[in-house]
Amino acid sequence: MGLFSKKPPCPICGGKIPMILPTKIEGEYICNNCYGRIDMGADKESNLTMQGFREYLAFYDQNQILKGQFVIDQQIDFGLWDTKMIFDHQNRLFCMSKNPDKTVFEGKQLKSFTIKEDSTPLFEGSAAGIRRYTSTVTERAMAMAPQIAQFAANRQMARTLDRLDDGKVNNSAPVQYFDIPEPFQAFNVELHFDHPYWTVLKCDMDGPRFNNTLPDVNNYLRSYQQSIEEIERLVAALRMVAFPGVPEQSVGPGMMGTGVLHASMAPPADAIEEIKKYKALMEDGVLSQQEFEAKKKQLLGI
Ligand SMILES: [Zn+2]
Repeated sequence: MGLFSKKPPCPICGGKIPMILPTKIEGEYICNNCYGRIDMGADKESNLTMQGFREYLAFYDQNQILKGQFVIDQQIDFGLWDTKMIFDHQNRLFCMSKNPDKTVFEGKQLKSFTIKEDSTPLFEGSAAGIRRYTSTVTERAMAMAPQIAQFAANRQMARTLDRLDDGKVNNSAPVQYFDIPEPFQAFNVELHFDHPYWTVLKCDMDGPRFNNTLPDVNNYLRSYQQSIEEIERLVAALRMVAFPGVPEQSVGPGMMGTGVLHASMAPPADAIEEIKKYKALMEDGVLSQQEFEAKKKQLLGI
């Protein structure tokens, strides 16, 4: 069959197959209208059969109802490419778009989430609870102060030398840019689903950047703080739709490259303090032995 030869109608809806670059499922062409409805993980899409596609369209129609019900209560801004995530807290729904025009997820379909600063965990959430790891970004940014001061001094020196002959800007030396990498590049957000068409959804939120001519630690920390507040809003929103009422726990620094807190890791000092408080409550008869044991296990992450 030639590129421009007449093609049979779409097997799904009977619609017209586009002349150029039509999409195929199992060797059969489908129309753009049907293709435009596909919104699923790349792994699922690449294995899609015609039968699977028909089943997906039934799911799609169901999802249209959720799109219609969606009331946008909250929006999280990921910065990059205008990526947004919206939440409907009343109906416990969310969608990775600024309007409910993509797959609408029900909170109960979210199995877990992780948010990392590059590969270092910052937040983990699941039905077991929300964990917040101590970040070292602030300390690492502050530790860059000497390098930044050195850069500013070098730059000032270059400008002074440039004007030395005649007091004018001669651009005799190449402009210097600050090119030392920031403590981290991006918040990596991963949502893991228990869902027929989605296994995982990944999106990044850019970390703050140093100004490349006038780097400043305080400016960096101010924009880092703003990003952290947006990340905290995201965590609170995910918790509300998917894991309402689960405990939140602060633990020590996250281990680089792993999302799992190992059982062999010593419990953080604040967990021990918490346990002591609950133990006192048990001794005062406020908590039962059983309730205390449950709380202790939870705080120790076991
Ligand atoms: Zn079609």
